[in-house]
Amino acid sequence: MRYFSTRGAGPVSLDDALRQGIAGDGGLFLPERLPRFEVDAFDGAETIPAVAELLLGPFFAQSGLEPELCRILEETFSFPIPATRLPIDGHDVSLLELYHGPTVAFKDVGAGFLAACLSRLEGDVDDPLTILVATSGDTGGAVAAAFDERPGMRVVVLFPDGRVSERQAHQLCCWSDNVLSLKVQGSFDDCQALVKGAMADSDLSRRHRFSSANSINIGRLLPQSTYYADSSLRHFRRTGNRPGYVIPTGNLGNAFACVMAREMGLPIGPVILATNANRTIADYFETLEWLPRASLQTLASAMDVGDPSNMERLRHLVGEADVLREQLGIVSVTDE
Ligand SMILES: *Cc1c(COP(=O)(O)O)cnc(C)c1O
Repeated sequence: MRYFSTRGAGPVSLDDALRQGIAGDGGLFLPERLPRFEVDAFDGAETIPAVAELLLGPFFAQSGLEPELCRILEETFSFPIPATRLPIDGHDVSLLELYHGPTVAFKDVGAGFLAACLSRLEGDVDDPLTILVATSGDTGGAVAAAFDERPGMRVVVLFPDGRVSERQAHQLCCWSDNVLSLKVQGSFDDCQALVKGAMADSDLSRRHRFSSANSINIGRLLPQSTYYADSSLRHFRRTGNRPGYVIPTGNLGNAFACVMAREMGLPIGPVILATNANRTIADYFETLEWLPRASLQTLASAMDVGDPSNMERLRHLVGEADVLREQLGIVSVTDE
């Protein structure tokens, strides 16, 4: 499988897309086409690693990592991801428990997978890869945990001073020498702009061998599509209905992974994006104008994003707002 930038550059191999994180032209990598599956292609796949091996196999075709995929998935899914029925009378509603990983964020799945891939591709202690991460709270901890003490890998985390919780601050700063955490006087968007700026500086980027572990890296999104695949297949086998998903949304990585699974033929019904007071996506669906803006600080700091990166992927894969709003719901919720 070959990968192209949303802005046209490419093709590159999966291995290079994972290494680079962001494309040279500033766009985001996507596979040249999405594989399509029938539901019965997953007959007999009863665990997430088994579903993931079938779903992700085509993305790893011709990658140097292909023979390792099974072991990479075992490493990634070292914790369970159950869907637990909620006691709501007359409604079949479940909570997809994405919080059983080491830092209690769903990002442990994507970060663990990316670390498992990159540590197989890289790992030269004399010429380390430097993962640059902007975080609004949860990403930095998950990435730091996944790369902590991995030889030949350095992590530099940028987080907005005073805008993460005490526990998040601890999770950002408690690691070994290969993880450096920097407080930035500003918002998440400022951190993200610094990371993008550093990576766009080709001289600096080559010298330090920068890569990204934000959800701009396709290596975060591929494994995230597998828990939608697994949980939708379970629900579909049990009830005959395609489950809908309500997805808390910030940088739009987790929701994009769900849309990707649906596009690949998984039995997924309505997808509803739930944002906090950061209304960039909601306003786009309403006015058809894409107007990124500074983020507002809310109680849900991990969702305080005013310029969601993965909208570029969503527009490339599905279409502009007039098409998107036919295919996705959106709800913006205030702190109250
Ligand atoms: C990261 C995060 C989100 C936002 O996810 P995106 O993929 O950035 O849209 C929402 N809730 C929690 C708890 C998170 O950690």
